[in-house]
Amino acid sequence: MCRETATRPFQSVQGRDYHRCPACHATFLDPAQRPAPEVERAEYTAHENDPADPGYRRFLARLADPLLARLSPGASVLDYGCGPGPALAAMLDEAGHRTSLYDPFFHPDPAVLAQTYDAVTCTEAVEHFHHPAAEFDRLAGLLRPGGVLAVMTCFQTDDSRFADWHYRRDPTHVVFYREETFHHIAAARAWRCETPARNVAFLTRPPGGGTDT
Ligand SMILES: [Zn+2]
Repeated sequence: MCRETATRPFQSVQGRDYHRCPACHATFLDPAQRPAPEVERAEYTAHENDPADPGYRRFLARLADPLLARLSPGASVLDYGCGPGPALAAMLDEAGHRTSLYDPFFHPDPAVLAQTYDAVTCTEAVEHFHHPAAEFDRLAGLLRPGGVLAVMTCFQTDDSRFADWHYRRDPTHVVFYREETFHHIAAARAWRCETPARNVAFLTRPPGGGTDT
């Protein structure tokens, strides 16, 4: 996650080996055990979320409500890792913003990665990153100064419950973040980090500074 190389074995669960970074406290699956792309695509297609489903919208509102409270009218937003059913984009567009989509499987449009945005959202996607440090560098480069990176993922908390944790059992989840992991990611770039809701982190690029790498 943070390119620290002195990672330590953390736990092995049913033949899957996890490591822990002593610097940012991210936990990650052994790289040799990552799922193949066809396994990932099948899993994501099976979990298609309907943009009109009220329950799914309530779930996304944990991130969308605090984000909408801070966006200026007509903001440009990129939903990175939107999946097959872009419900969050529908919610943001209904509020008057302009949302672009990117997903390596379902919306692989390189043109949207050649622009910068007032906000980038990444919901239930960062836990799938096979190269999280490179992905966060890319996300940082997609933000204008003053822009916000809004992330939602289940924060990893109790190590003693890791083996049975539902989030760990998803075969496509390969990296797990603690709240302090996001503070570490932000501090490395001199960005601000807040957690406006449970399992939601906002990383803000300073208006006049901060680095995007
Ligand atoms: Zn790290």
